[in-house]
Amino acid sequence: MDLLHQPEPHDPGDVRPAARPKPGVAGSPATEAVAADPEISRMTTADLLAGIERLRRERGAVILAHNYQIPEIQDLADHVGDSLELSQRAAEADVERIVFCGVRFMAETAAILAPESKVLLPDPLAGCSLAASVTPEEVRAWRAEHPGAVVVAYINTDAAVKAEVDYCCTSANALEIVRSIPEDTEILFLPDMFLGLYIERQLGRRIHLWLGECHVHAGFRPEDVAARLAETPDADLLLHPECGCVSACMYALAQGDLPADRTFVLGTGGMVRHVRQTPSARVHIVGTEVGMLHRLRKEAPGHEFRALKDDAVCEYMKTITLPKLYRSLRDDVYEVSVPTDIAERARTAIDRMLAVTAPRA
Ligand code: SF4
Repeated sequence: MDLLHQPEPHDPGDVRPAARPKPGVAGSPATEAVAADPEISRMTTADLLAGIERLRRERGAVILAHNYQIPEIQDLADHVGDSLELSQRAAEADVERIVFCGVRFMAETAAILAPESKVLLPDPLAGCSLAASVTPEEVRAWRAEHPGAVVVAYINTDAAVKAEVDYCCTSANALEIVRSIPEDTEILFLPDMFLGLYIERQLGRRIHLWLGECHVHAGFRPEDVAARLAETPDADLLLHPECGCVSACMYALAQGDLPADRTFVLGTGGMVRHVRQTPSARVHIVGTEVGMLHRLRKEAPGHEFRALKDDAVCEYMKTITLPKLYRSLRDDVYEVSVPTDIAERARTAIDRMLAVTAPRA
């Protein structure tokens, strides 16, 4: 199998983000507060689950959980899904509180789409290395270099960045969104370069890329794919388009070095739909954050799922725990809100995305 390394970025319009430290979760006030909390420190897992159940009813709260959350949180959530599905659930919500078990940019999106609800994030340091790779000032400067260009932002961006762009997209709808933009229009895509390269390859369209990356998905290498396929040559290969190995795998696919009928590039929602629709039990190699395996095992219990990389763990997603969720409901922390002017402009970009994307089952 010939799995080439990813191509080097390719276009003078591409921009490499300024080097800046990855946000950390160490020393989170939520971690320290639950450790010092006399009630929580005495609670067993069963106590926490019962307490969360009671509080969610008393507080009129809906709990949304991303597919990368720990199993215990996925199991108790009202809705588990990808960014797009959770955005849609937030937009439909008519509740006092939304507790978002995910990361900050997702909670911000919920706050924009459900302005009547109080949105809580159980740990204020649940950030995202990809979202942190671009600032609103950088978007404005990039746009100024390309007057007339349409700016498309992956949903993994801060609200203040969304406020500067024309369209949002998720991994589930990125191809649809870019396809909806006239062919003769210049496109700036940010912040994930691997998703951007994938869109270019799929649509055969030149796009200027922000060369940001998620540190978890960028860690997937072609050699990881080769090693897993050597162990299970008949497995389906499910790859998230943020993965650092996607370009190489697309090249290998085009060369016939990966099986066309068993290689799939899918967002996490697409992975769920794929396994639901796979009629007979199979082995699936899953190329995304390891939290996804719990979701897929529940969706398709007769199938076998193996992580493409066992250490593909997002510390921001995993900083949300049962004690922090309990405290979030009990103490109404940590509220996530977006200033009105930013929310209005960001909402325009999100609404354009939702208008292009039909709700999925
Ligand atoms: S897995 Fe990557 S993109 Fe997703 S929240 Fe974590 S750092 Fe961000």
